[in-house]
Amino acid sequence: MYNIRQGRLVRPPCKDMPFVPHLQRKPIQIQFPSLPCNQRNCLLLNKSVTLHYHSPQTTECEMKTADCPSVLLIYTGGTIGMIENPETGALESFNFDELLKHVPELKRFNCHISTYQFNPPIDSSDMEPELWAKIVKIISSHYNDYDGFVILHGTDTMAYTACALSFMLENLSKPVILTGSQLPIGMLRTDGKENLITAIEIASARRPDGTPMVPEVCIFFENELMRGNRTTKINAENFNAFRSFNYPPLAKVGIHIRYEEHLIRRPDPSRPMKPHYLFDTNVVVLTLFPGIRESIVSSVLHVPGIKAVVLKTFGSGNAPQKEWLIRQLKEASDRGIVIVNITQCQRGVVEMQRYGTGLQLLQTGVISGYDSTPECAVTKLMFLLGHGLNQQEVRRLMDSNLAGEITKTC
Ligand code: ASP
Repeated sequence: MYNIRQGRLVRPPCKDMPFVPHLQRKPIQIQFPSLPCNQRNCLLLNKSVTLHYHSPQTTECEMKTADCPSVLLIYTGGTIGMIENPETGALESFNFDELLKHVPELKRFNCHISTYQFNPPIDSSDMEPELWAKIVKIISSHYNDYDGFVILHGTDTMAYTACALSFMLENLSKPVILTGSQLPIGMLRTDGKENLITAIEIASARRPDGTPMVPEVCIFFENELMRGNRTTKINAENFNAFRSFNYPPLAKVGIHIRYEEHLIRRPDPSRPMKPHYLFDTNVVVLTLFPGIRESIVSSVLHVPGIKAVVLKTFGSGNAPQKEWLIRQLKEASDRGIVIVNITQCQRGVVEMQRYGTGLQLLQTGVISGYDSTPECAVTKLMFLLGHGLNQQEVRRLMDSNLAGEITKTC
């Protein structure tokens, strides 16, 4: 229902729709709530941060009706929008308007699409909590203007961003769908077109009662819609780059998009969406392996300012039965460090009571991360610590299912 002209999306005027002129392009200042934080490296706390973001490129009319949904497409960067530098052969980001020229199929959507692009677009290896805050600010500032949001993002850290957004957008009632591609959208065999087009379709899909079909932060990739905070990048070569090992896909895409409605979370309609912006990055991941030395474990647990450890253990949450390991973990826990046990296995859940080698960890104060992905455990800890919570509160909330990120059977 709209055309791409002169490098930008142009929506034809719609009948019976109110006309709203282009939004002003101006930097927006975000005043973050003042919460206690005495530690170094505590991000985004007690300060006002100016995120120079501009309003989306809107089209000729801003409107929403029951039969004409609207989607905001946020382009952060990544392979999907890259082009090969003829001199170096390396992939580099290029202009988003150019990217859209490669997808003339977007014209055929019965859906209004506005765009916002990061300037400059980034490789997702450069993604960080300040940029998550920027994405959340864009979404929350335009929350009432759109039915859904699609975020184009590099695949390398997409799972981390999806986890972070799932915690930052509390009581989300609209779809936020992340996607990207393994091959740039300008290439003949690209997977980007398919991913982008279907992500937009999912972001604008509604149930018969008019409510959004998937009011969750998700990753859509290669025919599967996955809960974002359950997803891991598993493949740097194939098109099926992501997998949700511990939670089934929310939808499978073939000729039809088959939604598994019983698996999709629904927001509390009595509460508004509440955006959060705070993170504390004093978190470390410690992977156990046979032969690991005390000096290594001790150094990690004594990193200045460290507040939480994601401990990647064996099988169902087991660790070597070494006196020094138990002592180091117990002392760290007693110093106030939160230690979360997740398994090195891709599928399955931590059950520390199952073997003596797991039970000993429980007795040192290590808590279960259940079936969390590593991406989820790290971002959830940074999120909770960022809000100035004490050790007990962080432990309690790590044990709670905040956004569908863990499976608790009891
Ligand atoms: N390096 C790229 C990124 O994550 C890879 C990709 O987009 O697939 O930004």
